[in-house]
Amino acid sequence: MSKYSWFTDSIQNLQDEGFYNTPRIIDSPIGAEILIGGKKYLNFASNNYLGFANDPRLIRAAKSAIEKYGIGPAAVRTIAGTTTLHQELEKRLAEFKKVDDVVVFQSGFTANLAVIPTIAVEGDLIFSDELNHASIIDACRLSKAEVVRYLHLNSSDLEEKLKKAKNIGKKIIVTDGVFSMDGDIAPLPELAKLAQKYEALLIVDDAHGEGVLGKNGRGVVDHFGLHGKVDIEVGTLSKAFGVVGGFAGGKKEIIAWLRQRARPFLFSSALTIPDTAAAIEAVKILSSSDKPVKKLWENTKFFKSELKKLKFDIGTSTTPIIPLMIGDEKKAKEVSRELFERGLFSVAITYPTVAKGKARIRLMNSAAHSKSQVKKAVETISAVGKLFGVI
Ligand SMILES: *Cc1c(COP(=O)(O)O)cnc(C)c1O
Repeated sequence: MSKYSWFTDSIQNLQDEGFYNTPRIIDSPIGAEILIGGKKYLNFASNNYLGFANDPRLIRAAKSAIEKYGIGPAAVRTIAGTTTLHQELEKRLAEFKKVDDVVVFQSGFTANLAVIPTIAVEGDLIFSDELNHASIIDACRLSKAEVVRYLHLNSSDLEEKLKKAKNIGKKIIVTDGVFSMDGDIAPLPELAKLAQKYEALLIVDDAHGEGVLGKNGRGVVDHFGLHGKVDIEVGTLSKAFGVVGGFAGGKKEIIAWLRQRARPFLFSSALTIPDTAAAIEAVKILSSSDKPVKKLWENTKFFKSELKKLKFDIGTSTTPIIPLMIGDEKKAKEVSRELFERGLFSVAITYPTVAKGKARIRLMNSAAHSKSQVKKAVETISAVGKLFGVI
């Protein structure tokens, strides 16, 4: 026994159960096609909804910002890390999202860690959808509030639980806007009604709705026309916006409080210069054009209808996330491997990320794909699906 045996044993267990992760190494920009091991693959695995991860306009904006401001902020926001770029990004995001104010963080994960423990304190109750993202779960654990999980998307279960609540502190409802494994959308209008009726704060994490749903990609709140009815929108800059970063937007007194007390804002350095500048460019593009969002949805509709024609089960998604349902864990991995062999990069999502027996291939649409690339993907999936008896 050495002090490292816990690690070797745990790793061995993962390997035995087939859960040991070895990522593919990408040697090109993230786009419709990527290079892996010197070979070209059609990419249906990235969260690059609008193709911004390698957009020349974002690259130009990042380059010229680097020329002017350098690379790193070299401080946390509250000491010496707030540049005019951070200020501009927050202002533009607030206008785009139609909220009073926005505060930017280093990632979407960090944004949840910043928002939830700062708002939910001892004596408060957090009501959390059972399938919420890991960063929400961790953020809830970091707070001293009690957490009540409600059934996925189930507003009557939530109401039962709100009714029973006897706490004297705040009530806080938190949900993903779009759930990343199934592509289903939270019943936000009903949640907003319940939040009003039971005087609860409502937080929505719009990571997969940003740049995807609503007018010009304003997100899930805009999609449902609920401006002013959701107290805090947590967002990411790392998916549709094409860079890395996160933010929270909402009522000015809430954002003001986060700027005073959110620990990742106080104790972790500011977003980098290139990320900030490229994110500003992404917001500018979306504010003035609906073209990238339209293209994303065109591709999505075409891809989904072709897969349905072939009788694939594509679950309950109402967004550009397509879960190609396989069921068996081992089979899903084999299908994914065969797709890869044939030049299509997509990942198998299996237990414990989703329930046992619900393994699937997750296909991520992007405005970067051309119609012929989507057609090619359909052909490959059809051939592999037949080979494995999926259809
Ligand atoms: C991806 C995701 C995050 C994390 O965002 P990053 O910017 O990658 O840290 C947070 N919440 C949800 C719901 C997500 O899907």
